[in-house]
Amino acid sequence: LEKIESIACTEKNGTMGGDDGRILVFVRLRPMAKKEKEVGSRCCVKIVNKRDVYLTEFANENDYLRLKRLRGRHFTFDASFPDSTSQHEVYTTTTADLVEAVLQGRNGSVFCYGATGAGKTYTMLGTVDNPGVMVLAIKDLFTKIRQRSCDGNHVVHLSYLEVYNETVRDLLSPGRPLVLREDKQVMALLQRGNQNRTTEPTCANETSSRSHAILQVVIEYRVKDASMNVINRVGKLSLIDLAGSERALATDQRTLRSLEGANINRSLLALSSCINALVEGKKHIPYRNSKLTQLLKDSLGGACNTVMIANISPSNLSFGETQNTLHWADRAKEIRTKACEANEEVLEVPESGTDQAKLLLELQKEN
Ligand code: ADP
Ligand code: MG
Repeated sequence: LEKIESIACTEKNGTMGGDDGRILVFVRLRPMAKKEKEVGSRCCVKIVNKRDVYLTEFANENDYLRLKRLRGRHFTFDASFPDSTSQHEVYTTTTADLVEAVLQGRNGSVFCYGATGAGKTYTMLGTVDNPGVMVLAIKDLFTKIRQRSCDGNHVVHLSYLEVYNETVRDLLSPGRPLVLREDKQVMALLQRGNQNRTTEPTCANETSSRSHAILQVVIEYRVKDASMNVINRVGKLSLIDLAGSERALATDQRTLRSLEGANINRSLLALSSCINALVEGKKHIPYRNSKLTQLLKDSLGGACNTVMIANISPSNLSFGETQNTLHWADRAKEIRTKACEANEEVLEVPESGTDQAKLLLELQKEN
């Protein structure tokens, strides 16, 4: 491993991706849980140079054979976060740029993917003491709005939805999105929403979230462009805490189809199908196959800045899940998105004969 480490360290550090229409893919390793320690888990993941992820130990012979078959023991991502990484660092590296883009009228989305217990909800929602991406994004958004507008012309709409068993449920205010006036109550609001999420016992864990939670923040505001037209800009940020991936691990189309009849998460499968179709450059992307993909149609593969965070456990007892999650994330790196333009609509043009219009005409002549 030391040898690997020295090779990894001498590798050129690529620039952050995304400009070429690639989606950004990150991996976050969580600390070993007390329960995992108690049963004698060993750590099977090593993160080097904040980019490279190595699978180092296997729970048993089967895992070892799988590893050989899939040839996957080294992965590299836009950034990989070791277990000591703070919530703040995860937010600034993965999402802060998206918040800025959303304020320019663009769409952005962040997905957390991984097995149950891998740290998705911790990353997205966090705790009161260590708030996660959802809370930090909204706080940042309000700070930025305050810095740039003294006339209060930004309107912030917020909705927190759940997709469970192909039914969409509002976790906050049945019927319509809330208009959010400040960031103070966001943590309480989202925690309340999260308590409304559907959970269900599974054999593997005491409770397992089989629902997807989608926080959408829409920012609408008016600006004047260089020609003094009044422009309405709308940016949308979607933050998605996906259901546990343990029952939908297939990355190829054939296995996916064979799983469809089984009692697994249809939306998660549909998401994987869409990703496969996007990676393969297919013309038809099957967004309509599930509620989740219908809701996120404009946030996946469309004109949108997309970020994936794959969450993993360090324990060798979760080796299989971790390897599957890393394979999924590795594949997601190949998705290309369309150029992300601002969502703008011209509301008013200056009247002819006014000072503004005269000035504009003069400027146009000069050019
Ligand atoms: P998931 O949503 O993927 O099922 P959770 O986010 O609920 O998993 O995480 C499982 C447990 O691990 C929780 O008790 C959570 O607080 C803890 N945990 C997850 N990630 C971290 C982390 N980065 N640092 C500290 N504790 C974490
Ligand atoms: Mg969760």
